Amino acid sequence: GSVIFENVGFSYDPRHPALNGISFEIPKGKTVALVGPSGGGKSTILRLLFRFYDADTGRILIDGQDIRTVEQESLRKNIGVVPQDTVLFNDTIYYNIHYGNINASEVEVHKAAKAAQIHDRILNFPDGYETRVGERGLRLSGGEKQRVAIARTILKQPPIILLDEATSALDTTTERQIQYALAQMTQDRTTLVIAHRLSTIVNADLILCIKDGKVVEQGTHDELIRKA
Ligand code: ADP
Ligand code: ADP
Repeated sequence: GSVIFENVGFSYDPRHPALNGISFEIPKGKTVALVGPSGGGKSTILRLLFRFYDADTGRILIDGQDIRTVEQESLRKNIGVVPQDTVLFNDTIYYNIHYGNINASEVEVHKAAKAAQIHDRILNFPDGYETRVGERGLRLSGGEKQRVAIARTILKQPPIILLDEATSALDTTTERQIQYALAQMTQDRTTLVIAHRLSTIVNADLILCIKDGKVVEQGTHDELIRKA
C-alpha cells in the first residue's frame, strides 16, 4: 500500500513534540529508509502508522484511506512489523516462523517456495538451517532472532512491512545482504519502511532524513550523496 503523512503532529510531552507537522509520501511497493539521529522521530512514525498511538494533528493515509477509519484488525493484518527487540516463543525456529501462518492453505504452494527461499536467503545460519530448525528460539543469538522475525513477517506477505532497526544486531555485511534479499523477495508487492539510525540502507528507492520530527532531506542514495 501507499503511505501518506499529511502535516502529522504528535507529542508524548507537549513541551517537546516528537513529530512537527511532518509530511511525506511513500509510493506503493517501494523500499523507503527513514534515517537520522536518535530521537528524531523515526520510531514514532512507525508507531503512528501501526496506530499504536494516533496523531494529534494531520492525517495518515494508507492507499488513500485515513487510517482512523480502518478497522484495527484489518490495519494490523496489512502491516507486518519487525521490531527492534524481537521476542520469540520459547519453541522451535519452525514454530516461530510459521506461527500465524498455519491456516492459510490457499497460498500453501506459493508459501512452500517462498519458505525455501527464506531458508536460503534470510536464515542461512552458518551451521545450516536444517540442523537447527528444531532448536528453541531463546537459544539463538540476537542476529539469528532477527532473521527469524524477518522470515516470519515475510511469510505473512503483508502489503506493508515496517522494520525498526530490525537488522541492527547483525554485522554490516549480513545486514546489507538481508536488506537486499528482503527488497528482492518482496519486490513491488510490498512497501518496505526501514527505520535506521545509520544510512546503511543503500538499496532504498527513497531515503527520508528525519530530524526534530521533520523531513530535513529526501531523495535516492545517489541524490543525497551528490548534495552532501
Ligand atoms: P528515533 O526513532 O528517531 O530515535 P523516536 O521516535 O523514538 O526517535 O523519538 C522522538 C522523540 O520522542 C524523542 O524526543 C524521544 O525522546 C521521544 N519519545 C520517544 N518515545 C517516547 C515515549 N515512549 N515516551 C516519551 N517520549 C518518547
Ligand atoms: P529508538 O531508537 O527505537 O527510538 P529509544 O532509545 O529512543 O529507541 O527508546 C527506547 C525506549 O524508550 C522506547 O520504548 C521509547 O518509547 C522509550 N523512550 C524514548 N524516549 C523516551 C522519553 N523521553 N521518555 C520516556 N520513554 C522514552
